[in-house]
Formats: sequence, structure tokens, C-alpha cells
Amino acid sequence: MKEKILDLFTRETLETARANNTYRSMRLMETPESSRVKIRMPDGTSQEQILLASNSYLDLANVDELKHAMSQAVLEWGTGSGGARLTTGNKTPHQELEEFIAKFKGEESAITFNTGYMANVGTISALCGKNDFIFSDELNHASIIDGIRLSRAKCFVYKHNDMVDLERAIMEAKAEFSTREMPAENSAASAFRGLIVTDAVFSMDGDLANLPELLRIAHESECLLMIDEAHATGVLGKTGRGLAEHYGCAHADVTVGTLSKAVAAEGGFVAGKQQLIDFLRNKARSFIFTTAMAPAVAAAACNNLRYIDAHPERVQNLRENVKIFCDALLHEGVNVVQSPSAIVPIVIGDEARALKISAALQDAGILIPAIRYPTVAKGQARLRASLMATHMHEQLQIAATTIAQIINDCL
Ligand SMILES: *Cc1c(COP(=O)(O)O)cnc(C)c1O
Repeated sequence: MKEKILDLFTRETLETARANNTYRSMRLMETPESSRVKIRMPDGTSQEQILLASNSYLDLANVDELKHAMSQAVLEWGTGSGGARLTTGNKTPHQELEEFIAKFKGEESAITFNTGYMANVGTISALCGKNDFIFSDELNHASIIDGIRLSRAKCFVYKHNDMVDLERAIMEAKAEFSTREMPAENSAASAFRGLIVTDAVFSMDGDLANLPELLRIAHESECLLMIDEAHATGVLGKTGRGLAEHYGCAHADVTVGTLSKAVAAEGGFVAGKQQLIDFLRNKARSFIFTTAMAPAVAAAACNNLRYIDAHPERVQNLRENVKIFCDALLHEGVNVVQSPSAIVPIVIGDEARALKISAALQDAGILIPAIRYPTVAKGQARLRASLMATHMHEQLQIAATTIAQIINDCL
């Protein structure tokens, strides 16, 4: 009887996923995240692989100096924080981390969340309510989409990176707003409030948001602009400060980021004006109603960020590797574009074929996952390669040749 009820909730989803080649399972890695790893193969053996799939773009997760610093922080601060930030959880490392993020990002202030996911969900749902308008790029990350849903604001999804479509959506929203019945008093709720939100680097395509144009549109339409720098922090700009450094332009009003990717620790953050940070500390539910991250994790994130600050050559090595890899793929006739980020998508199309290619690459010692629906649109399955600062040039050349060969073999 019990099983039957569980079936009712779960069976169709699982069967559909299996039939569509979208069923998820996890790969087991037996060594720390780095440019070379050992993974457990389906036959139970271990195999060494070149990792071309990590978000740890600067390869900082396994640096001796940083591991020692984190273990020192554990000895000093223990294993857990013991409370929410607003009760007992807020320890010196949390505060130092937020101060350093603000400095690194060139902002007045910053606030951390336990994950980037929670930063997006908490920030969007705190800023916007059901009377507000949100303009969201169609390829935005799931955590932005979930934040929008939670806010209950009216959402206009604009075509990917299409600034004309964004301006059209804003005009449409303003027209709709002007037909609304206004509350008598002149409160904030009676003003038009619009939030433009976009990934800085799109996580499955590796392309960039057009920040200069977004700043112009936000200014002219009096909207707030929020960017998510999950794949931009530590990657874009000469010193890895992100999208604004890349373009040499002003910052968005709200900058979200993660400490889990290039920074190689864990956590999310928002940086901006002091008033924004004060507001989030008071209103963001995913900040308020959760236990603070372990102080040692905060210390690790801060140490790693300081390391990035002190080693801009690491960011430059990453950029050089991306160029070498894209050049090598193009030379081999693989259809890619020169990526401005650390993400190089190789679009295959068919889900089953992408899986087959990814499996064959794994047999050849190269780990690049196939990304499928629902993470990307149906029929847009791809190999999502991502580069690290520590890949060797020769390693990348060999990988490109092997990738080209396997794509041609798997028809
Ligand atoms: C990974 C990612 C997040 C979530 O960050 P976590 O710290 O992993 O929760 C948010 N936005 C984008 C664009 C991401 O790629």
C-alpha cells in the first residue's frame, strides 16, 4: 500500500527520465578536485582522468597552503557555527570574509549566504513582491528562476542577451502598470518597481551579459540591475574581479556571487551599497532562517579570495588555457566559439549521442560531462568543457584531438 502511494508521486517521473536519456546518477570521484582526478568506472575499477569539467577554475581546492590555512581555522574555530548569523552564529571569520569581499569587489559592503543558490533566492524574494516587475534573461540560472517564483512578482523573460527585447519588455510592463488601480497613499508600493536580473557568465553557454548596455537600460528605465557572477568571480577581468572589470564599466546595483566555484570554498554573497546589505540582513529569509556557515569555511573562503588577490597570474593562466583549448578545437574542426569565460560548450544536439560521446571520452581518460534537458533545452545537449588555470598546454592539445576524433566516431 505504502509503495503504491510512493509510486503515485514518483514513478512516472523516473520512467520518463529513463526513456528520455535524462535520468540522473552521480559519478564517484576518489581524489580531490584538481586538473587530474581518479574516478570510479562502471566496472568498479579506478581510472585517472583529465578533468575538463570543474567549476574550480583556478584549481584552488587542493593547494597545500590553502588547505593548511583551512585546517588551522578548524583548530581555532571548531567544526560548526552553532547558530544563525542573527543569533549566535556570527563569528570573526564571517565578518572578515564580508569585509574582504566588499574590498575585492570594490563595493561599500557585502553579505554572505550559505550558498550562491540561497543568495539568489533570498535576494530576489526580499527585493520584490507581487506588485513588482522582474526582467529575466531566458538562460538565467535555476536559482534566479526560483527566487523570482518565490517573490511572486510579474516576470518578463527576455530573449537571451537581447537588449531590444529587454527594452520592449520594460515598455510592456510600464504600460501594464499604468493601467493598475493605485492605492490612495503615495508609498513605495505605488511606484513602478522593476528589477533586471541576469547571469554575468551564462553557465551552460559561457557567454557574457552585456553589462554596459544593461547599465544604460537600467538607468534610463529606472530599474534596479542585478547580476549573478557565479562564473565570473575569479575568472573575468585582469585580476578576476568580474564582469565590471572585464568591460571597464560601472557596477550593477546588486552583485551576487558564489564562493564555491573559482574561490573553491563554499557560500554565496551579495555586494553593493550599505543600504542594500542592511536591507538583506533584515529581510532575506535564506539569510535569516538558516545556521551560519561553519567559521572555518568562512575563513577558507576569505583565505582563498586573498590568494586570488595576490596571484592575478592565476587568472591570466586560466584565460590563456581557454584560448589554447578553443584554438586547438577549431583547428581540429570542432564547432566552438572562442569563449570569453572558462566555459567552452561543444553543442552536440541529440541527448543520446551526447551521452555516448561523453562516455567514450571518459574511456579515453577525459572527463567532460554531457549536459542535457532540463538543464539545457531539448535537442541542445552538449559537452560542457571548462578549463582550469593549471591544465598543461600539451594536455589541452591532446584533449582537443581526442575530442574531435570521438565526435566523428560517434555518429
Ligand atoms: C552555481 C551557480 C549558482 C549557485 O551557486 P552555489 O554556490 O553553487 O549554490 C548560482 N548562479 C549561477 C549562475 C551558478 O552557476
